[in-house]
Amino acid sequence: MTDLTRLQQADKAHFIHPFTDSKSLGEKGTRVIERAEGVYIWDVQGKKLLDGMAGLWCVNVGYGRQSIVDAVSKQMQQLPYYNSFFQCTHPPAIELAKTIAELAPKHMNTVFFTGSGSESNDTNLRMVRRYWDLKGQPNKKTIISRHNAYHGSTVAGASLGGMSGMHEQGDLPIPKIVHIAQPYWYQEGGDLTPEAFGLQAAQALETEILALGEDNVAAFIAEPFQGAGGVIIPPSTYWPEIKRILAKYDILLILDEVISGFGRTGHWFAAEYFDLQPDLISIAKGMTSGYVPMGGVIIADRVADVIKQQCGEFTHGYTYSGHPVAAAAALENINIIKQEKLVEKVGAEIAPYFQQALQQLAEHPLVGEVRGLGLVGAIELVQNKAKRQRYPSNIGVGTWCRDACIAHGLVMRSVGDTMIISPPLVITKAQIDELIEKALLALNDTY
Ligand code: PLP
Repeated sequence: MTDLTRLQQADKAHFIHPFTDSKSLGEKGTRVIERAEGVYIWDVQGKKLLDGMAGLWCVNVGYGRQSIVDAVSKQMQQLPYYNSFFQCTHPPAIELAKTIAELAPKHMNTVFFTGSGSESNDTNLRMVRRYWDLKGQPNKKTIISRHNAYHGSTVAGASLGGMSGMHEQGDLPIPKIVHIAQPYWYQEGGDLTPEAFGLQAAQALETEILALGEDNVAAFIAEPFQGAGGVIIPPSTYWPEIKRILAKYDILLILDEVISGFGRTGHWFAAEYFDLQPDLISIAKGMTSGYVPMGGVIIADRVADVIKQQCGEFTHGYTYSGHPVAAAAALENINIIKQEKLVEKVGAEIAPYFQQALQQLAEHPLVGEVRGLGLVGAIELVQNKAKRQRYPSNIGVGTWCRDACIAHGLVMRSVGDTMIISPPLVITKAQIDELIEKALLALNDTY
């Protein structure tokens, strides 16, 4: 029996995978990835793949960074664990909070640590409700989100998210979370221009606030661009109108930057890219480049001052909030991003090259639209380009294309018939050319 067969049998017998139909693993078995270096991963059979997804949008500095391994190892020897509860903490968590505050938008100078993006959004829910309690507006409890948003997999995270499949399986959302339309022009824009549609999608927020009563609405939560929903980039009119509405009704903005944070847009945070002044920012993933799990919430002074000075004990936290080993990984990860000027390089050089290269795929007969910003991209696979008409969903064109990518040595993810890409920030121009070449071969095979 080969090692792979043994592993796959053990996997099938003992392992339920996240977001996976276990039955679908039956014939082929699970792909088992064994090692990685730079932007490449290798499976146990030695097949080399260009990782066009940076793991799960997280390995920003690429694989195989010895300095992160060293930082983690040193921290493990010195202090592998201590908590940051009950008037206590440790140097890595303090240094990391200060470092992130320095990188964050100017009005945000405080951090709460979590273990993941989902926990960050649970924290947001608790924090905004507590904030409004302390401000003497205890009815401001409802959080408005959007259909097809992704905010995590915990009960609060999945409720804040707008994935109908997740809601159906968990009897979600929990009360006082509502969802409005998403700004997905390609799928839902009809005959409107992107600009007119963006305005319309934003105005759905005002309609919902008026329906609920502004005194009952605590916050609006959104990804700057939707990632897991299919790299949906709002039209240019969307965010300015959302800002106007939030200011008018004094409603907090929770910006979920779990994907977009730490350089993906060519800025440290997408808040800068979209000129937003959020009250809370969710972070995770690129914070440690996925080397060790960690998340957090960056908090605007307006909220932090109230929580710090008026809350008494904030009755919320996780055993691993600010975990010293994760904090050491995050500090070295941020150090690499700074030393190698990855944010500047992505913004000035790599992202423009990537976006231009992606456009080569737009001419393909199977491709309805190619879109992107920074180092993320999406390719819409369609039956009819002019009508923006998709193939019937039972065909599974996206799945074919994903499998064809693998056959050609490229990891791209499919969300329905939308192919999505989010490579490590360290990808070179030559590797971008390789990615496009492999994607083109996969599109030809799928067509
Ligand atoms: N928020 C966004 C925007 C995400 O994309 C994700 C994960 O993909 C999460 C939250 C949840 O993060 P985690 O899986 O670390 O809990």
